[in-house]
Amino acid sequence: MANKVTRLRGMYDVTPEEVWIWQRLEQTITGLLHQYGYQEIRFPVLEKTALFHSAIGEVTDVVEKEMFTFETRKGESISMRPEGTASTVRTVLQNGMIFNDPQKLWYLGPMFRYEKPQKGRNRQFTQVGAEVFGFEGPDVDAELLLMTSRMWEALGLKNVRLELNTLGTQTCREAYRNVLIEFFEQHIDVLDDEAKNRLHSNPLRILDSKNPAIKAIIKDAPQIADYLSDEAKSHFQGLLDALDACGLDYVINRNLVRGLDYYSHNVFEWITEDLGAQGTICAGGRYDKLVEMQGGKPTPATGFAMGVDRLVELIKDLNLWQADRLADVYLIRDKAVSAQHGLKLSEVIRKALPNVRLVCNMGEASFKSQFKKADKSGARFAIILGEAEQNEGVVSVKSMVDREFQQQTMAPDALIDFLSKQFER
Ligand code: ATP
Ligand code: MG
Repeated sequence: MANKVTRLRGMYDVTPEEVWIWQRLEQTITGLLHQYGYQEIRFPVLEKTALFHSAIGEVTDVVEKEMFTFETRKGESISMRPEGTASTVRTVLQNGMIFNDPQKLWYLGPMFRYEKPQKGRNRQFTQVGAEVFGFEGPDVDAELLLMTSRMWEALGLKNVRLELNTLGTQTCREAYRNVLIEFFEQHIDVLDDEAKNRLHSNPLRILDSKNPAIKAIIKDAPQIADYLSDEAKSHFQGLLDALDACGLDYVINRNLVRGLDYYSHNVFEWITEDLGAQGTICAGGRYDKLVEMQGGKPTPATGFAMGVDRLVELIKDLNLWQADRLADVYLIRDKAVSAQHGLKLSEVIRKALPNVRLVCNMGEASFKSQFKKADKSGARFAIILGEAEQNEGVVSVKSMVDREFQQQTMAPDALIDFLSKQFER
């Protein structure tokens, strides 16, 4: 007996039953990106491993343990992209896109991380990202957050909170880093292996620990707020003032850090309580140093990445959306009438009415079973092609939803007229 091959752990299929949620979600989000003047870019799923090592940083969850990395036949190390910022920066540099012009860009697509699969955490997952180059902010950061909040509104999400912090400039962070290391050295017995590993390489990352014992001491840890330069303070205040002026609520979380070394100034997360542990649905911040680190001329940059899988989970869990009908009109054909006749009529209608979704019954079946299928399709009207209709060159129209509607017989031209009025936009 043949063995059934199943899919890989942490991967998933999307069946038609759910794919409409993905489509509507992606359309809503990318529609808003366009409204705000963002343009799409696409880049490969595979990149040289070195790109992620240099852009994301060696001491990060992603690079340390989550990448799908392998060798080509020629022995070159390549990786499935775990996120989009590194590739975006490579793309804009390689294509000379930010030499003179600022850019507002977005991407959408699958990312790959070798993680422990659980709800809201998959090994292939989809992100929508926005990346902006050439604006120092904070106005563009504020606009990015306002746009994101418009996205939640358009999707119908309510319980989402915006958490903000600033990591200051590299100089402020240097000073803060040192006192933070000193502080954690005094509590070395509480640190777990991961935290100890990061103590000297990436101490800010310990602030993000999920370990309860570490969380308890973090409450007394020195705060970045006390080490900010005037420039850093005014950049952050500028962002808060712009959000206040536009009426967008936020919470300042002084322990919010992003895992990657290149972040500076403001960082943020949008978090929902409706998803359990995996509640962050969008995260980002400013990364003014990254372009330079990747060999470009110094270019301020900011952006976010949004977890589309988690948004789909939310919409399903909260039952936020109703599925659309499959068809507007269903064509039913008597066995005595040729299939060609049904196909030809369907084509005439589809060509005349591009916005009307018409399903033509395929194969031979009783009227009863065809009506059942018409009902299931959600069609508002059934078009009936019987023997009598064929002989007279007409069709019958029956409402699938309105009992008062009298079945009518009409010529194809009149049918097109009738349907165009019914489905007027
Ligand atoms: P986490 O702390 O949850 O691991 P992260 O900091 O690794 O998140 P980012 O790299 O900032 O996540 O990615 C941005 C967003 O992409 C996350 O907020 C989340 O919504 C989504 N995301 C990240 N990893 C996964 C995954 N494995 N499965 C599904 N969505 C993910
Ligand atoms: Mg992660």
